[in-house]
Amino acid sequence: MKTLFRQIDRLRVTYIFFLRLQWKISKISFLVAVLSALLTTVNSLAVVMFPGFILDFLAKGDRRNFLYTVIVFAAWELLVAFFKAVVKRVSEAQNRKISDRINHMLVEKATSLRYEQLESPEILELYETAKKCVNDNRITQFMSGIISLIFSLAELISLLYVLKSMPLWVLAVFVAVTVVNAVVNMVISKNTVEEAEEEIPVSRVMRYFSYELIKPAYAKEMRAFDLGSYVFKRHSESIDELIDIEKKYYTKRARFINYSSVAGKALSVTFYIYCIFRFYSGLLTVGEFTTSLNAMFRFSQVTNSAVSKLTEISTRGILLGKTMDYLNITSSALGTKPVAPWEKGGTIEFVDVSYRYPNSKDYALKNVSLTIRFGEKISVVGPNGAGKTTLIGLMLGLFRPTEGKILYNGTDVEELDFAEYRNRFSVLLQDYQIYNFSILENLTFSENPADSEYASALEAIEKIGLKNKTEALPNKERSFISQMFDENGIRLSGGEEQKLAIARAIYQNSDIFILDEPTSALSPVNEYEIYRHFADITGEKTVMYISHRLSSCSLCSRIIVLNNGMLTEDGSHAELMKNNSLYASMYRTQAELFI
Ligand code: ADP
Repeated sequence: MKTLFRQIDRLRVTYIFFLRLQWKISKISFLVAVLSALLTTVNSLAVVMFPGFILDFLAKGDRRNFLYTVIVFAAWELLVAFFKAVVKRVSEAQNRKISDRINHMLVEKATSLRYEQLESPEILELYETAKKCVNDNRITQFMSGIISLIFSLAELISLLYVLKSMPLWVLAVFVAVTVVNAVVNMVISKNTVEEAEEEIPVSRVMRYFSYELIKPAYAKEMRAFDLGSYVFKRHSESIDELIDIEKKYYTKRARFINYSSVAGKALSVTFYIYCIFRFYSGLLTVGEFTTSLNAMFRFSQVTNSAVSKLTEISTRGILLGKTMDYLNITSSALGTKPVAPWEKGGTIEFVDVSYRYPNSKDYALKNVSLTIRFGEKISVVGPNGAGKTTLIGLMLGLFRPTEGKILYNGTDVEELDFAEYRNRFSVLLQDYQIYNFSILENLTFSENPADSEYASALEAIEKIGLKNKTEALPNKERSFISQMFDENGIRLSGGEEQKLAIARAIYQNSDIFILDEPTSALSPVNEYEIYRHFADITGEKTVMYISHRLSSCSLCSRIIVLNNGMLTEDGSHAELMKNNSLYASMYRTQAELFI
């Protein structure tokens, strides 16, 4: 019982949430839903009553009234058809507007969440459900469902007035059939929710193979490895799996749908028997016979649809509840304290920091204590999987330490305003992205940057050695990368893309540079050029530099070695060579290759 109350309360909260949201986005959609429900109700009463009047006038031979009534009925039906078409058009446009706006909110939410949250399977599931709800128009249907339910109740009361003489035994059959239908509806809606929940992870796989992998970014490798047949096979498998799920649930549902239609037939027979009996007893005229039958059928139709709307509302409520949960997630970066400037004496301190990825049992980083001081140039080295990228992610505040804390100038990073803290860093990530924007927009993230921003972007392009390339392009720095938004779009080589990503970090010009494998795609000559201009590029900034090429360590005064998630060495090149541990052995191995 307690669970039921909790479910009803959650439905109420969900309903109010979407009511407010829809009201905010489109007030017209409410008017349209009310008009549509009103029209359906009034029209169905007309359809119940008019044929009876017409038949009675006909039976009495009253041709004048017969004709009038037929004309009025026909005109009414025409008017209703016209209004229904208008209402449908307006409501479709409003529904699209609502879906677009909520889709936009989903994008806004996804971009506002902290990175660690986007990796959580629970949040991914909520996101999938929310997307499905919006795309299937479930939100607007939920709303209009409730409004038409209210009107259905009004219609039922009016019909009861017509059917006031209905005897108890007909009422008993009616109630029994309604109960059967209600149970069937409940079973079906439970079945629908279970089906949707089972389908979501499979749909995710299917979408990956149908939408993601056919994107141009994968096209080259797909052909080089002849991945097409594998993708096609996996796609067919997921479709088969989806069909199997649908079939399984449909078979279950079909059995119950049969019970419901048998009950419906029994009710029709009862109605006919009752009305025919009354007609032959002389209690009904032909017209009243028709009106009574129509009213009975309409009464049963409205009751059933009200019951199914009620169950549908609760079913939708469960899925919409998840959409509401997604929209209500707040970023786990909750700090509000202002971030002090990064200047002489500044420190970023890792205090016994450990980190374990969600759903992972091993620690990626264990008990790391480390202080980064203003102006230092630090090289972070270590074998693959040692925890270098994780260390950077933690420093950037992408994830929260599982244990320990990170202090910025003595204040826990979790207490700081996240956007402000993030602005302290110019970053080149290992898996940097080049966007299908213009070269300029890839740096400034603005279509029309201010003059000073424009000048800084050109300076960054020059510093990184992309000036000649850019100057030679017909649209120079305004040239688009890829042909997605411009048919004259250009393509950059892997090395050029990496240079552009470094230029972006230079353009950002923040206090602390984080460069994760910045030269992995560059030729030795280009890499040498970057090393040569390293001091010019990074200036007085504090730098954290991750590289597998240990020759780059000569650029940094301090080297940190990570191994198996632990900080094992920390010192200058000379000190670590003297230490004769992992760094020294890695350095010697790389040096040997160049002898
Ligand atoms: P490095 O940058 O030194 O190569 P990483 O910091 O990327 O190492 O990874 C450290 C460890 O954390 C590795 O064992 C890796 O498998 C694991 N790891 C990295 N990213 C994730 C993730 N998103 N989820 C689970 N484990 C991860």
